[in-house]
Amino acid sequence: MDKCKLPQYLKHTNMRLTWLLLLFSTALSAQTDPRIYDIIANVSAERIEKDVTTLANFGTRHTLSDTLSATRGIGAARRWIKAEFQKISEGCTGCLEVAYQKDLVKKGENERITKDVWVVNVVAIQRGTKYPNRYIIMSGDIDSRVSDPNDFTSDAPGANDNASGMAGTLEAARVLSKYTFESSIVYLGLSGEEQGLFGGQGLVNMAKEKNWDIIGVFNNDMIGNIKGVDGIISNTDFRIFSEPVPPTETERQRNMRRFYGGEVDGISRQLARYVHKNVRVYMPEMNPMLIYRLDRFGRGGHHRPFNDAGYAGIRIMEAHENYTQQHQDIRVENEISYGDVLEHVNFMYAKKLTAVNAINLASLAWAPPAPEKVWIGGMVAPATKLKWSKVAGAKGYKIYWRDTTSPTWDHSRYVENVTDFTLQGIVIDNYLFGIAAVGENGSESVVVFPNDIMK
Ligand SMILES: [Zn+2]
Repeated sequence: MDKCKLPQYLKHTNMRLTWLLLLFSTALSAQTDPRIYDIIANVSAERIEKDVTTLANFGTRHTLSDTLSATRGIGAARRWIKAEFQKISEGCTGCLEVAYQKDLVKKGENERITKDVWVVNVVAIQRGTKYPNRYIIMSGDIDSRVSDPNDFTSDAPGANDNASGMAGTLEAARVLSKYTFESSIVYLGLSGEEQGLFGGQGLVNMAKEKNWDIIGVFNNDMIGNIKGVDGIISNTDFRIFSEPVPPTETERQRNMRRFYGGEVDGISRQLARYVHKNVRVYMPEMNPMLIYRLDRFGRGGHHRPFNDAGYAGIRIMEAHENYTQQHQDIRVENEISYGDVLEHVNFMYAKKLTAVNAINLASLAWAPPAPEKVWIGGMVAPATKLKWSKVAGAKGYKIYWRDTTSPTWDHSRYVENVTDFTLQGIVIDNYLFGIAAVGENGSESVVVFPNDIMK
């Protein structure tokens, strides 16, 4: 007797199995991309250690340091970084376009520019197959410093600040160069950070000139220290800094925020949430901390020039800093050893934060562009209406919403290839909403907060 009430066609064991497998694989593929796990697995702590060591061994990489020596100073460092990107490119039949981008900064530009200096960045572009002019950027810094910001001769190994971010950027290029992407990925080594964010500014000027469509910037600055000056040791906590709204917003946008919301929903914040979400899904052992501010209190980093120009950009970094190991002359004082030396860098941790970057670069570069326009409506109605501009290359869209006090997009609904949708029973006043485009392969764009009101 057959107790099971399966339909006749499923009674055959093979059919049943096939049916179950199909269900299982559909459920899985709707949520995760196996390539992302491979990317995480391929990031190497050993290679990062090797690169941080090489960078630290240039003695100093101060922006004003020697450029002629083959072994010491920022000139030797940037030539090595460029050669390293070229080597990676040779391993993928020339998939990286490697070049310097440089600007002459004149003496006296600020008090940290004590002589005329060429601020030279290294740029490696992995060109997208479908959207070559759309760019997702990962950056680290080439330069380093000691206690006196203008001391360009003393040993400044800058192992954590910021050889770690630079080595992570090189490693991400190694791992991702094995794949092809729809959008372009830029791996950046920036200079002049410690002297006043000059390298980032130069790159932004170039991007504007060339009309780059920038998805966003992941600025990595200090991704290797796990022992905080606060006594906390954690190899899973890390911070994602993002400013609330762009400084370039118009008066109209500012006014709209007052009546329709969006105080914590600028483009950089959406990028931060994107990273946070991917990490939660693919690296559940990590503890990503969304920090609702541009950067640390009163301090700066190389995502800011991008933000200044209206581009999305976030800072990814360790959660527990150690100030005795940043911007310090190497010395022992009151039994504390000061200095940003190799011994303080945790390469397994730098590997994890590199993987955080790599998986987000990949999923954004695999995803279609986000809808440009998103309209919202539903005043005095028991439903929320959304409408958005069609994205060529999207197979569908994901509507996200969350409580007004929640930092993350907690609710979502996938809709097929339509350009408007009504969420019945959802009262607009009580939530915040956004739309992401979803590609054929399941990759999602960044969420777009509504930028207009439905009349
Ligand atoms: Zn620094």
